[in-house]
Amino acid sequence: MELIDDWQWQMANRITDVAALSQYVDLTEAEASEINTVGSKFRWAITPYYASLMDRRNVNCPIRKQAIPSILELRCFRGLQDPLHEETQSPAPGLIHRYPDRVALTVSSVCAVYCRHCTRKRFVGQPVPRTTWSAVSAGIEYIRQTEAIRDVLITGGDPFILPDERLERILKELRSIDHVEIIRFGTRTPCTMPQRITTKLCDMLAKYHPVWVNTHFNHPRELTEEAAQAVDRLLRAGIPVGNQSVLLRGINDDIDTMKKLLHGLLKMRVRPYYLYQCDPVIGTEHFWTPLETGLDLIDQLQGYTTGFAVPQFIVDSPIGKIPVSRSRLLELTEDHAVLRNYEGKTITISYPMQLHSHSILPAACQ
Ligand SMILES: *Cc1c(COP(=O)(O)O)cnc(C)c1O
Ligand code: SF4
Repeated sequence: MELIDDWQWQMANRITDVAALSQYVDLTEAEASEINTVGSKFRWAITPYYASLMDRRNVNCPIRKQAIPSILELRCFRGLQDPLHEETQSPAPGLIHRYPDRVALTVSSVCAVYCRHCTRKRFVGQPVPRTTWSAVSAGIEYIRQTEAIRDVLITGGDPFILPDERLERILKELRSIDHVEIIRFGTRTPCTMPQRITTKLCDMLAKYHPVWVNTHFNHPRELTEEAAQAVDRLLRAGIPVGNQSVLLRGINDDIDTMKKLLHGLLKMRVRPYYLYQCDPVIGTEHFWTPLETGLDLIDQLQGYTTGFAVPQFIVDSPIGKIPVSRSRLLELTEDHAVLRNYEGKTITISYPMQLHSHSILPAACQ
């Protein structure tokens, strides 16, 4: 176990069968056979690090639920393969162009841990041609030809599964394109395999600034010392780190857990960015929550905690990510607005009064 700190060791020793998993959690025979049944349809793999966070006896452990296949993945038939229509918005293999000024470039179909709630369940863990170098470079060529693209999101699967040299090749190509302003990565490795965030990787990324990283923590139990150190290495390299969580039934859909997660992220200097309504992907129905759950959580956060602890609650869709919240604007007329604060108190803000107070404003404001 002396190599536990090494990400290559973590990848090579991923848990992919019931016998290995039994070293971390107690499984009944029925559970073991269900895991095998589901595994033949949806791939699973768990790093020894992530498995070590599991509760041996509690089947409701949030780490277990995110990583160990559940028979419910096969029992629920609602949901779609590709609810966001990513495959039809793809002008080059693995490239998704949905917004005018930015794209998502899929460079890997491999992840350290295959999350049971994954939106890209349709291809993660499968050897797909879209991630070969010729496909990735076709995506880069599309970006080169499309001047409107100023922001490139490198995603997967998990891009940080690629070796440093491959990542650097992608970054070098992108940086040779004048109109690409920012490059960002979506990676779950700080959560599922923090060993991946080596100083060598961070030094390499820092050569291609501005580089941003968004990661994916869903539960306070994932906020370990190892994860905090991985994040710290990214931050020290000047890389801002944000977090995108998925709202998951029985995992983080209550205010206490969500607050602990958000406050824990701030302590690690990670900025909560998005909280996603779970996409209606086939095989994930057991994680779905009603839309009200997310709206209620945001209502219980905004005003009650640090403003920048509160993520935007997002419903993703084929026409883009849509932030949703209960309106605090109760009424808007030509001369006033009625607004509601976090406690439900209302206030009327009268605009003409402010406009007419020109005379008392300094000249620069008139
Ligand atoms: C999420 C996403 C982006 C980035 O969206 P932001 O709201 O800017 O974070 C870009 N392209 C695609 C296809 C996406 O799904
Ligand atoms: S790390 Fe991301 S892409 Fe990979 S399985 Fe998890 S949610 Fe899906």
